[in-house]
Amino acid sequence: MRRVLSGSLLSVFLLSAACLTSDSAAAAPSLPDTLRSTAASLRDEALQGTRAFEIVRSLTVEVGPRPAGSEGDRRAVAWGLRTMRELGFANVRAEAVKVPHWEPGVSTGDITSPWAQPMVLLPLGGSVATPDGGIEAEVVSVPSLQDLEKTAPETVRGKIVFLNKRMERARDGSGYGETVPGRGRGAIVAGKLGAVALLLRSVGTDNNRTPHTGAMRYEEGGLRIPAAALSNPDADVLEAQLASGKPVRFHLVLGTRTLPEADSANVIGEIPGREKGDEVVLLGCHLDSWFPGTGAIDDGAGCAIMMEAARRIGALPQKPRRTIRVILYANEEFGLSGARAYAEKHAGELPKHILAGESDFGSGRVWRISSSVAPEALPLFDELAKLLTPLGVERGDNEADGGADLSPMAPARVPLIGLSQDGTYYFDWHHTANDTLDKIDPKDLDQNVAAWAAVAYAAAEMPGDFGRGPEPARE
Ligand code: ZN
Ligand code: ZN
Repeated sequence: MRRVLSGSLLSVFLLSAACLTSDSAAAAPSLPDTLRSTAASLRDEALQGTRAFEIVRSLTVEVGPRPAGSEGDRRAVAWGLRTMRELGFANVRAEAVKVPHWEPGVSTGDITSPWAQPMVLLPLGGSVATPDGGIEAEVVSVPSLQDLEKTAPETVRGKIVFLNKRMERARDGSGYGETVPGRGRGAIVAGKLGAVALLLRSVGTDNNRTPHTGAMRYEEGGLRIPAAALSNPDADVLEAQLASGKPVRFHLVLGTRTLPEADSANVIGEIPGREKGDEVVLLGCHLDSWFPGTGAIDDGAGCAIMMEAARRIGALPQKPRRTIRVILYANEEFGLSGARAYAEKHAGELPKHILAGESDFGSGRVWRISSSVAPEALPLFDELAKLLTPLGVERGDNEADGGADLSPMAPARVPLIGLSQDGTYYFDWHHTANDTLDKIDPKDLDQNVAAWAAVAYAAAEMPGDFGRGPEPARE
């Protein structure tokens, strides 16, 4: 929103802006040479090999799947505490968070006519179960959520809606944003039209028989219909049978269960600042995962990257001025429980959070650095961004969103940093049984550690700060 300034106020504003500009050319804080050289060493030494792969290996082998509220979730919290202590973090603690608890159970699906065959599918996270014996109904195909919103109720009433939108592959993962609303809201829209269930073409770019789960929602008081994702090759078969023009019938059995809220925790560890310990550089990731895989790329990789980047800064002969706080957030996947709890519990401290970033996009290499800082701090952030030029990282815009777990801090306008990772293959495995350790190249993890260690150190050590982030956009 631009504000209209009155004439006299505007001239005062322009005058002071001009003064600021001429002064700041001389006085703007910049990164001292000693800081630059330490940041460069952190960066270059990480490329020689880090512990990040060992950290994510340990999480996937010793814990594995850890959906919110599960036994795996509790073991992940214990793992986080133990690992942070072993890595030498200070103030290691678990901050209690209540999380939803939902179980996938056993789920199956079959085309029953015109050409019967079994289908490979997974329930969407949060879906209700089907009644005993399942649901059998005719399938009606809809190309997208937008089309479903325009569909007449008589077309889908009493039928199973098949939302058949294919996700496109892209380095920046932009295809996800275009398809994921169908996963989140498809069952709400289909339920309102009188459909009995939702089948979704998986939000994923692979052609394996590995369906992609992920969170879906219902509206308070609205009809709750079961929802499942078909793998891409299974969606192809269903599409081809529908293309025959014959009526296609599907039998869906979902054995999901919604249980009472459970106890989980954000796991936090710090490298305490030597001078301004109350000022915080926040490095985030999420500790929970979906149920089918071992959560290696989502988000074991991100946690390994952030823990190892901070550990290397903590191992320097002199700690940086400000505190580096690593947060392994509880339940990102199914409602940002840990992120909301942190923003609430630490609301009084957020004005002293001088920069926050999250790693939650797998293990691909960093290729772009974006910011969300005060406009007058852009020259300083540009200097920080240049520390990553030798890693092949380009400067992005000032509209970084930082990551889902940082979103509840938006009202406090905490300045954000976003390191975009190469997501070309991320959505082949995301939220599937194939999210496993073998998908991670240790050298790629090291490059991520190099980037985060350099920028986190610089932010924690630099004179000056990034002001406050831009005003959040009004809804
Ligand atoms: Zn994630
Ligand atoms: Zn995820």
